[in-house]
Amino acid sequence: MADLDFPVLRPGATIGILGGGQLGRMLAMAAARLGLHCHVYCPDADAPAFEVAQAVTQAAYDDRAALETFAAAVDVVTYEFENVPADCAALLAARRRVLPDPAILATTQDRLAEKTFVASLGIPTPAFAEVNSAADLARALETIGRPAVLKTRRFGYDGKGQARVAAGTDPAAAFRQVGGAPSIVEAFVPFEREISVVAARGHDGRIACFDVTENEHGDHILRVSRAPAQVDSGVAAEALRIATRIAEALGYIGVLAVEMFVVPNGPGQRVLVNEIAPRVHNSGHWTLDGASVSQFEQHIRAIAGWPLAEPVRRGRVEMVNLIGDEIDGYAKWLTVPGASVHLYGKGAARPGRKMGHVTRVFD
Ligand code: AMP
Repeated sequence: MADLDFPVLRPGATIGILGGGQLGRMLAMAAARLGLHCHVYCPDADAPAFEVAQAVTQAAYDDRAALETFAAAVDVVTYEFENVPADCAALLAARRRVLPDPAILATTQDRLAEKTFVASLGIPTPAFAEVNSAADLARALETIGRPAVLKTRRFGYDGKGQARVAAGTDPAAAFRQVGGAPSIVEAFVPFEREISVVAARGHDGRIACFDVTENEHGDHILRVSRAPAQVDSGVAAEALRIATRIAEALGYIGVLAVEMFVVPNGPGQRVLVNEIAPRVHNSGHWTLDGASVSQFEQHIRAIAGWPLAEPVRRGRVEMVNLIGDEIDGYAKWLTVPGASVHLYGKGAARPGRKMGHVTRVFD
């Protein structure tokens, strides 16, 4: 349904971005291309997005005075990470439109709320149960079975806050491994592949999905994405339907990503939802070079009240993350024909840190 009161930004308006990592950086660069300014708010002095923004605020997310000044300086607020503290989002939302609606964060910040929401839409997920004690875990394993994965409900990313529960694992030991935090346990899914759909939804309710992407992880960190995913047309259609349904049900405005598992199912396959990311996503970085519009531009268009573009993929696309000291190979990538190199301007190449990525378009 179109929201006729939705404020449409004009070129020259300012978008406030909470979070100054590489996603904020690439959002700010996309906004600049459309004649929009960005003001980035981040607690870190060396935030990668600071150097490409027109204005910056370096302050904590609970600094009320700094948040108020930030809100007064921008026309709309968005965020590049899902763990925006609820108080921070509420303070800003009382003064400026925050998109996507921060109410969505309550669902996506909590794995239990998120999976319960997805299941309520009739969309399949791995079997899951709430865990608040070792006894809960032992009981849940009786129905869910082993192997299983124990995950903290909040603040987990790139495999942090997770424990594998194998055949011989003591439930108490697994629960200790996640710090005794409120958690969920999920059936371990013997997936054939991991895929994601990056989708944009505009304020008029229109949805534009990028092609289904196939993702390879190592140590729980995304290494390589390929588009289109090597799945049959039925699986691709189902993945797109799921992402569309989730974006609609959330009344979402902006770009989101839905991570999914493709699992064998008799002679065919089925798709299970792993996670929703209420933001632009690493598995959509290929769109910068491999599509007629990037996920970053789509997000900016959506929150500016502008029409979404209809993305057209340019060929078979592969995106490789440069993680930790892989950044040292940048000079080699610069000489690879057809490779587009993106470096995030980060200082220390700590293990597991995403330092840049490379995209190649084939065909
Ligand atoms: P997450 O933080 O939930 O996205 O998990 C990170 C990665 O761990 C996923 O991309 C999968 O490779 C793996 N993983 C998470 N949950 C499961 C599961 N239930 N079964 C199998 N692998 C999983």
